[in-house]
Amino acid sequence: MAAKKHLLAVLVVVVVAALVVVGVTPLGVSPPAPERSAADGFSAGRAMQHLREIAAAPRPIGSGGAARARDVIAAELDALHLAPHVQTASAVSSQSGRVAGTVRNVVARLPGRDPSRAVLLVAHYDSVPVAAGAADDAGGVVTLLETARALASGPRPRNDVIFLFTDGEERGLLGARAFLREDPWAYGVGVVLNFDSPGSSSPALMYETSPGNGLLVRELVAGAPHPYTSSLMYEVSRRLPIESDFRPFVAAGVPGMSFGALDGPAYDHTAYDSLESFHAGSLQHEGDTALALARRFGDLDLWDLHREDVVYFDVVDGFAVVYGRGLVLPLAALAAALFAVAVAVAGRRRLLSLRGFSLAVPATATVLGVALLVMALVWGMYRTAYEQRTWSETGVVISDFYRLGLVLLAAAAIVASYELLLRRLRPWDLAVAALLWWLIGAVAVAVIVPGASYLLTWPLAAASLGLLGAVLLGDRALHSVAGVVVTLAGAAPGVVLMSSATYLLLMSAGLKQVVTVLAVWLVAGLLVIPLEVVRRGSRLWLPVALAGVGFVVLMAVGSTVAFDTEHPRFTSIYYRVDESGAARWQTVDRIDDWTGQFLQEELRPFHDAYFPQMGVRSTIVGAAPQVRLAAPVIEVLRDTTMGDRRTVRLRLRSARDAQVVSLLVHSVVGGLTASVDGLPLQGWDTTILDGTTVRWWFDYYAPPPAGVVVTLRFATGPAVLLRAVDFSYGIPPQLAGQYDGRPPGMLPGRIGDGTLVESTLRLPAVPATASSATR
Ligand SMILES: [Zn+2]
Repeated sequence: MAAKKHLLAVLVVVVVAALVVVGVTPLGVSPPAPERSAADGFSAGRAMQHLREIAAAPRPIGSGGAARARDVIAAELDALHLAPHVQTASAVSSQSGRVAGTVRNVVARLPGRDPSRAVLLVAHYDSVPVAAGAADDAGGVVTLLETARALASGPRPRNDVIFLFTDGEERGLLGARAFLREDPWAYGVGVVLNFDSPGSSSPALMYETSPGNGLLVRELVAGAPHPYTSSLMYEVSRRLPIESDFRPFVAAGVPGMSFGALDGPAYDHTAYDSLESFHAGSLQHEGDTALALARRFGDLDLWDLHREDVVYFDVVDGFAVVYGRGLVLPLAALAAALFAVAVAVAGRRRLLSLRGFSLAVPATATVLGVALLVMALVWGMYRTAYEQRTWSETGVVISDFYRLGLVLLAAAAIVASYELLLRRLRPWDLAVAALLWWLIGAVAVAVIVPGASYLLTWPLAAASLGLLGAVLLGDRALHSVAGVVVTLAGAAPGVVLMSSATYLLLMSAGLKQVVTVLAVWLVAGLLVIPLEVVRRGSRLWLPVALAGVGFVVLMAVGSTVAFDTEHPRFTSIYYRVDESGAARWQTVDRIDDWTGQFLQEELRPFHDAYFPQMGVRSTIVGAAPQVRLAAPVIEVLRDTTMGDRRTVRLRLRSARDAQVVSLLVHSVVGGLTASVDGLPLQGWDTTILDGTTVRWWFDYYAPPPAGVVVTLRFATGPAVLLRAVDFSYGIPPQLAGQYDGRPPGMLPGRIGDGTLVESTLRLPAVPATASSATR
């Protein structure tokens, strides 16, 4: 008898663990197809050849790396006879309104047999300055190239298929905005499919759609060989300020979907996003999806894809559930009815007591509170213990093991609380109270976030049926195989769906402790009867084991975190020549083993240093050898005054072909507005910064050799001090050879190393005039 109790307890633990593993295993992992596979199929082997060329070096907008990638893309499209063209245009970032640039998008078109509107496939070929960007987004680029090859070698689709390789995505979606604003092809687009991955090893999740996604999702589920998606991600992603090329298209009313591997966001935008960490299996999944959907939408009438939003989620590989929003409330009502039946039958069988139930409701809520408190304490202690490590500098430590430790500790706190409650309260009262929270959650989510409703509705329905089965068995359910089977079967959909959703949210949305605790608490609520079986067979053994393993895992993750090749320190050095021609080394990081070789003499803090992308920073500066570098030029083209408004047209240019040129206004000027090449700029709201003299600034990426024309309008008054700063990637090549390269365990951070040269121009004071005047 005792042996059976233990065995049942082990059975429960093993089955629940297996269900969690099923839940967190991404669907659709497929082996990469070799180079010599069917010509009309997608081969990650073939695509990897392009990837190795494109992801050989960082490709920030305006860099040599970007130019080389552009050449590789254009050459491949040429070889496919797709007549690519490069769209060169100015654009202003949507985000801040004070980042602009000249983008060079590569665009090609595969003509269809009898086009309705065009299918547009998008990926960005630029990367951040410090990353080779194998995943973000060379993977998307080669997905498009290999899809183009496969489409061109198979039967022609009905619709045109446009391939857009955008530039400047990482600096505010400049390429996508320029395409939408200026390229005539943009007007004929019927559907957009965007491929952009922060991660590099999981299958490509379809994580975002345009509103009105019913038809899009049904086509994805019917067309893609391994659809991997959920409407939970749609609800989450559209509430997050995600910057991707997809957003401007959605804002312009173009229907579409966005795909990407969401694992490893900690690696994104660091030197870790490289060829070494890239998985061809992930690329195969993305490519299979891209090709299948290009064909699918390629043969569809694309005049109107807008349909009612749907609820959708994967069940097993290759099969997803899709239903209309209209079913959300009826399904919630059905789940509520099943719950009511289970409660009614339990009541009739005298398994519930009013007193027990009225204690169980607050008690189950207290379990959540206790678990949140425990996790907050553990996190606080953890931070204190490992503060010297990389917490604030990189998220690399946020690994799968860290997540596992977090889940185990949350589970320990929650299981222990439930087991203590089960000593005092009847399991039936607790089980019904726990499901009551599910019911409240299911109704609230169905009303507020319908796309996430499946996550609560289906588990509640199944768990209510499981509870009903257990109730029919009566107290026998607490110590019989039948009781365990029936309650675990009822809990299974909830355990799987909740594990899967939590895994995706932890990876993508950056929500950690609270989401983990809430999910584990909800799952435990489905497992009250099995937990009672475990408690009878093992006493407090389970929570102790969970806590022990969780603790060991977290400590192992924490204590292996050091500044090494796996967990680097991010550190960068800048060479700056100011308007007087004086040169100095500069860092925004601490002086460390590596920056120390530059920063040796005449060290002092300097607080008002301007960097593109980073703005005004506090720095440490030191003496530097002199290198002749031509200063950026501000040339006044026209300076007119009308009444009390002054308009100054300037030409701003880098005399040394730097990749970025910035214009700073150092004086307080009234009513400032500005434009570049006729495009309005913004950002006046943040003109006064603590401890800095910079009142307004804007950055222009990849300026043409002749420079850009900036128009400033402001109130007449005192003299105005302007500063031009140009920025190029890396320190001057004349000096680079004199210093050691970065040792292992140190990586370039943010915008990487750079060279900055400054010049100033003083616009003389101008009094208000009665009529117009030109100087
Ligand atoms: Zn990207």
